[in-house]
Amino acid sequence: MTTPVYMDYHATTPVDPRIVDAMLPYFMEKFGNPASRQHQFGWIAEEAVESARAKIARTLQAEAREIIFTSGATESNNLALKGIAEAWKQKGMHIITVQTEHKSVLDSCKKLEKLGFQITYLPVDEFGIIDLRRLEEAVTPKTILVSIMVANNEIGTVQDIAEIGRLCRERGVFFHTDATQAIGKIPIYVDDLNVDLLSFSGHKVYGPKGIGVLYVRSTNPRVKISSQMDGGGHERGIRSGTLNVPGIVGLATAVEIAVQSMHEESARLSVLRDRMLNEFRSQLDEVYLNGHQTQRLPNNLNISFLHVEDNALMMSMKDVAVSTGSACTTANPEPSHVLKALRLPQERLQSAIRFGLGRFTTDEEVDYVIDRVVENVKKLRQLSPSYHALHEQTISHSFSK
Ligand SMILES: *Cc1c(COP(=O)(O)O)cnc(C)c1O
Repeated sequence: MTTPVYMDYHATTPVDPRIVDAMLPYFMEKFGNPASRQHQFGWIAEEAVESARAKIARTLQAEAREIIFTSGATESNNLALKGIAEAWKQKGMHIITVQTEHKSVLDSCKKLEKLGFQITYLPVDEFGIIDLRRLEEAVTPKTILVSIMVANNEIGTVQDIAEIGRLCRERGVFFHTDATQAIGKIPIYVDDLNVDLLSFSGHKVYGPKGIGVLYVRSTNPRVKISSQMDGGGHERGIRSGTLNVPGIVGLATAVEIAVQSMHEESARLSVLRDRMLNEFRSQLDEVYLNGHQTQRLPNNLNISFLHVEDNALMMSMKDVAVSTGSACTTANPEPSHVLKALRLPQERLQSAIRFGLGRFTTDEEVDYVIDRVVENVKKLRQLSPSYHALHEQTISHSFSK
């Protein structure tokens, strides 16, 4: 085993060597522009792009023409929200989303608010789940779009997307979902889920960075969206710009492998994840799981180790790459908007660590991380007045009995 150990797979993933192999020809000998219709170089590139598009469509049980290539999930989310807003504002100017969405959704909504749109930010319960009744009540005749992610990138909570989709379809409202963390982890079929628009990204599924997809439903209903990037009319005019051919080939290969290995990989990762949680709980006290107990991603573990500050714990184990619930770039770390939305006690928010497991995580690495975390939590608690106060209380309490 080599250190540092990478356990931050929600932030990005290494590119799978099989995917690098598939991409390599498209940098050199097959470098053509797929928009060059006049010669072989262009035809070869176009063929690669169209075969990739068909492959991705198949895995979502969608049609090839419904797949729009973008630079990643941030762009896909921007295009979905702003593209629907612009195209449908005559029908209504109301959009519903959730407080725990990715910033690319929330900040697109904020921009739309400045343009006069009304946005409802639904709250979540302490596990990160929305209340379907509240969603239903929030829909008005002016609502044009509901945007709710499949799985949360911080706490791993998975929403009931099928129910949300059913509700939106019933009410005649378009439904967009950010599936970036869910692709390759849980089954995603656009028809089963009644999804009209869906975003994801290459670099979260062992593909390259800088490539993503926006799925846009073409029939029942046909979803019209306005382009946000204008130019040569690529991607049926929805997203102009020369296509990233190696990226597209890599993304299609990545999605194909991810979906093929999903069952096995998710089973393996959830066993490792549960082992971590059980070890933390048996070797330490004051350990709390953030997010939902069962409705969660197989590779996500977000835990608060009470009486230990998240950034202090992270810094105490520099050979383990994890992420904290608060930005450590500022002098006064603020808990993330996702953790805040759970309305947990302040101590829970300030001590949250996110572990993200993935394809290349080994048993050995998991054992190593368990040992490092337990050792450092114990060490840091030695210095924690609140931890000592708690224990003195329990000791005196047991004496008085
Ligand atoms: C990473 C991530 C994004 C952003 O994707 P990029 O391709 O990096 O722009 C959006 N949504 C979720 C849920 C993510 O995890």
